[in-house]
Amino acid sequence: MNTRFRFMVVFVGAAALVGMVSVIAAQAQGDEPSTPTPAPSVREEADAPAAPQSDPNVAWTVGEITFTSNFPAGFSFTAEISSGAGPIERGRVIWSHAPGTQRSRPIEVDADTGLVRSAWDATDADAVPPWVGVTYYFDVGDAAGNSFQTEPQFAEYEDTSREWVRTEGEDIIVFAYNLPPDVGPMTVEAMAQQRETYRGAWGELLPYTPRAILFGDRAAYLEWQITPANPRSIGTTRSDWGSTVQVVSGGNVYDLAYGTVLHEVGHLYQSEYTIMAVDWFNEGNATFFELNQQYDYERRVRLMAANGTLPTILQGTGPSIRGQNGRDGYDIGYTFWKWWTDTYGLEGHRELIDLLDLGVGRIEAIETVSGMSAAQVEQEWRIWLGASPIPPTLIPTPTTYFVPIATPDLRQ
Ligand SMILES: [Zn+2]
Repeated sequence: MNTRFRFMVVFVGAAALVGMVSVIAAQAQGDEPSTPTPAPSVREEADAPAAPQSDPNVAWTVGEITFTSNFPAGFSFTAEISSGAGPIERGRVIWSHAPGTQRSRPIEVDADTGLVRSAWDATDADAVPPWVGVTYYFDVGDAAGNSFQTEPQFAEYEDTSREWVRTEGEDIIVFAYNLPPDVGPMTVEAMAQQRETYRGAWGELLPYTPRAILFGDRAAYLEWQITPANPRSIGTTRSDWGSTVQVVSGGNVYDLAYGTVLHEVGHLYQSEYTIMAVDWFNEGNATFFELNQQYDYERRVRLMAANGTLPTILQGTGPSIRGQNGRDGYDIGYTFWKWWTDTYGLEGHRELIDLLDLGVGRIEAIETVSGMSAAQVEQEWRIWLGASPIPPTLIPTPTTYFVPIATPDLRQ
């Protein structure tokens, strides 16, 4: 059989040459790839226009697959793929930086060599930081209507133009540039210390190892963004990158490791497990996971309680996380989560998250787990802080107390 013959020739010849060639005959029907995909979401590629039914007897030959980082301009892919039934005519390369989201670009086929290529060029809108992981595969079709997917490959969007220090731990992978050498090990240690707190609060650990990409140099931090949307930004955390990116100057490395990164990883958990629509609720929750505080948050809120300036939280939008009083949302929100977990344990955190994850509204979820009305919950929290049990009925007016140390955007 002609197909079989070519199959054998390619296998023997190429394997002898480079030892990295695999030959895969498509086995099942085209809608069930025989190779594992990196994440459930990647399978959502089935949303693409349905390919004609593949002939399971077609032999597909896969040679070398390459990924090239062209940081900061983007990255490109090539693959040696051929079908026994006809030339490759169409396809895409599909990649994800973290489970749950994916991107793709169409392939081009070199008319002379048959080499399959694809590329992603970074733009302002979709730029990604260096050192995100890239799990990718090719999904191609031949002229006879057969389709084929390669096995997932893993690469990183490397920045080889700088001296980065990489530290890989069980809970996080840290990339540091122009920072003291202990920032990596310190961040790994901080994450290890919080491991059981994250697990208890969320029920399980993140389904991927998050990345902390830490810059000690603003020019380098701005470079990958092409045209930075906010040149004053000090960091971004994105679940679709599975990463937090931070820039520090004059570096308090301890706070970066034990404060900022733990806070930002809290946001990655929020994205993974639930949706929290209210600012103070989100930021207070992320702040709850900091092991190093920028100042004593609870003390500040207790002073507000003593002064009679503690605002209501479970009616309206609650305290702001922006502007002059932007720390209010973080600090007051923190005390809510501190009180909540002191009262109901990390299990109470998880129960609340589970309900939110099911789509239950925030107030209803709080009432369900606590067994109290929202008004009673607010009252208990206020009493815990030493405030009068009755929340203010008016919209809180801007407060004038002194904010120690922090600027509103010190954590995001
Ligand atoms: Zn935050």
